[in-house]
Amino acid sequence: MPSRELDIVPRPRRADLTGEAVRLEAPFMVGTDNDAGAVVALLSDLLERETNERVVRSNEESDVRLTIDDAASSLVDDSEGYVLEADGNGIIVRSPTADGLRHGCQTIVGGLERRNGDWRFPAGEIRDWPATRWRGFMLDPARGILPLERVKRRIDQAARAKLNRLHLHLLDHESYALESEAFPELNRGPDGENRPAYSSEEIEDLIEYAGRRGIEILPEVDVPGHAGHVLETYPELQCTVEDGKPSDGTLCLGTTRTDEFVETLLGEVIELFPFETVHVGGDEWAMNCSWNECSRCRERMVREGSETVAEHFYEFVRRLHETLEANDRRLMCWNDQIDIAEAPDVPRDALVQFWRVAGNGRGPVEGCSLERFLEEEFEVVNSYVYAAYVNGWISEEYLLGWEPRSRPSIPDERAEQVIGGELLAWEPAAEETREYFERALPSAIPVFADRLWNPDPIADRRSFATALTRHALGPFVPAGFDIYRELGGMIIPTEGENAPSPPAHAHRSFRDRSPREARDDYEDTLETLGSLSEADEVVYPETAAAYRDCLEWLVGVADREGRGVIDRP
Ligand SMILES: [Zn+2]
Repeated sequence: MPSRELDIVPRPRRADLTGEAVRLEAPFMVGTDNDAGAVVALLSDLLERETNERVVRSNEESDVRLTIDDAASSLVDDSEGYVLEADGNGIIVRSPTADGLRHGCQTIVGGLERRNGDWRFPAGEIRDWPATRWRGFMLDPARGILPLERVKRRIDQAARAKLNRLHLHLLDHESYALESEAFPELNRGPDGENRPAYSSEEIEDLIEYAGRRGIEILPEVDVPGHAGHVLETYPELQCTVEDGKPSDGTLCLGTTRTDEFVETLLGEVIELFPFETVHVGGDEWAMNCSWNECSRCRERMVREGSETVAEHFYEFVRRLHETLEANDRRLMCWNDQIDIAEAPDVPRDALVQFWRVAGNGRGPVEGCSLERFLEEEFEVVNSYVYAAYVNGWISEEYLLGWEPRSRPSIPDERAEQVIGGELLAWEPAAEETREYFERALPSAIPVFADRLWNPDPIADRRSFATALTRHALGPFVPAGFDIYRELGGMIIPTEGENAPSPPAHAHRSFRDRSPREARDDYEDTLETLGSLSEADEVVYPETAAAYRDCLEWLVGVADREGRGVIDRP
């Protein structure tokens, strides 16, 4: 029984396939030789969801077996690695860890193919492991809180792409997205109205849900910048300025009330989130903020020997570091306000999330680079803006050629200090433009995940897009079906702070087709998606619905022969 290649995303590191296929019959029998019961339960859920078939758990008689096996570690280059063998006896996955087994399970559900009423998986041996250990994506509930069920769908999508971190940006100018017992006013707006926030119970539910899928949740309390909402609620945390106006977006670091406030918030976060790392933000506080004019900041700077506002900030970071260290937590922060041209007095075990060197006039620029952080012995998570900002910055061209240890410039001998990367889904301020992540993330997450998992260049873009289509929609899609060819690219446009963005790359979608030819193809694709949805044969109905909206928009563009449409990145 011949088989296609194993077209999954991220692409496996090594696959020695025979060209034959293993046939699996429903109900699928899944089991474990030893202590992998929790992962077997996850595999059952995944298989049922993907295939609509019944799954039976049986350790005696199983088509798919999961085995914790220390010996497997000699075959893969990372403890998250796994070995998968598929032959006439079925499929067996071995890994030294539950994380590795989970990745193997995602490979099984991603690689299953439905042909003529049969379920098949390519025969052969796969050895697979990640190139980097921090593989994350960030959501921004401070600006746009998602209902819990939608966060769970995002977690499903991320786990399917073998990511292992979800970063929640909880505090910003707009709101605090976590219910605070110590500061209940933080969960209200200026008129006393409730601002949406996750309760402790909801977060515990998310942590459990994500943990079961191998994803840990990183909380971020962004200070001392992005503090509009905090200062509106607690004006006493503003600077004290004799003449003129104190900053309305940056906390006063001269008063111990700020220290107490931040430490109390962090205490609540530490209590709730078991993850070993806590993000404290640190980005984009205004260099021209009122620290130099504030009597309390001035007094503290003199007392602590801080000669610049940067040193005033580092003192604050060191205090937070001490608090976190006392609670066995590692501090993580954004890079842009650390003047890395100098040797900054910031603890070297801080984990730095690099997104870009500060803009001119907004922070230190001269002599700053990712490379300098590595020379200063920091570990770095790479969220370089052109590869990681789903919102308006990333492009297919750039992302496919990127991997976290390549750009911006990273010397080989320092590459290991870049421990991974994180995709960032900053929510737009305007409510009406919010829907675009529903279109963009189902492909952006797996493409980004591939770049963290497998450093080999993507040579065959066509087959990658086909694999991505199966990844986003599930195993029932027809062979060779490529939704992204119709949408004009694998990265769906997302710009639209002030106006809704176009939901597809119209001109790139037309290619050399006439508008009429393109329109016919859109209609065919709509029909394919429609019948899959109708038969309950798409894994993520909301993704199929979003793509149908894109195609309907394209039909309209084709009717207008493309007039008035500009392709965005
Ligand atoms: Zn101050």
